[in-house]
Amino acid sequence: MILQTMVVGPLQTNCFLLGCEKERVAIIIDPGGNADDILKVIEKHELELKIIIATHAHFDHLGAVAKLMKESEAKLYVHKADWATLERAERSAASWGMRVEQPPVPDFEMEEGDEITAGTITLKVLHTPGHSPGGISLSMPGRVFAGDTLFYRSIGRTDFPGGDFDTLINSIKTKLFTLPDDTIVHTGHGPDTRIGDEKKHNPFID
Ligand SMILES: [Zn+2]
Ligand SMILES: [Zn+2]
Repeated sequence: MILQTMVVGPLQTNCFLLGCEKERVAIIIDPGGNADDILKVIEKHELELKIIIATHAHFDHLGAVAKLMKESEAKLYVHKADWATLERAERSAASWGMRVEQPPVPDFEMEEGDEITAGTITLKVLHTPGHSPGGISLSMPGRVFAGDTLFYRSIGRTDFPGGDFDTLINSIKTKLFTLPDDTIVHTGHGPDTRIGDEKKHNPFID
């Protein structure tokens, strides 16, 4: 599998390209901005973009969605509990003084346990609310893409609309921390970490 991390948009969001080398198809997770750069990387790897997944609907994870969908046949996946937030993406960004092209209505909802597949790549959906009601993480053997739920030695903010601290901690403990300790955590911002390391060293979780 091709895996490339790109840091995109005004809030330095981690965007991930997952490419199936056999069928030359790609999944993009959290395209928060820099659509042209993302398109170039997809082209460089000679992949066809099939699926765009937002781990949640904050605008810093969606800024490039509109353009990517214009330039490809890709379908958009967002958990239903975040669709209302997605509808406000452009306005929400503007209130922070940032410009985001409004993404379209998603093609698919996601539920806990859903599997999203492109070529030989399969991602399993874990509903991990707390940072936002529709926050999800995406797991595959050895890795999890955790969005803004869990960071290196930190956790997501819970002071945005729909955020809740206890819900976030519960998501981390009952969903992410049941993954094997050596699972690599690809976070929404900042460096990767591992489940076992966060169990030991994360100061926000007892
Ligand atoms: Zn967020
Ligand atoms: Zn974010």
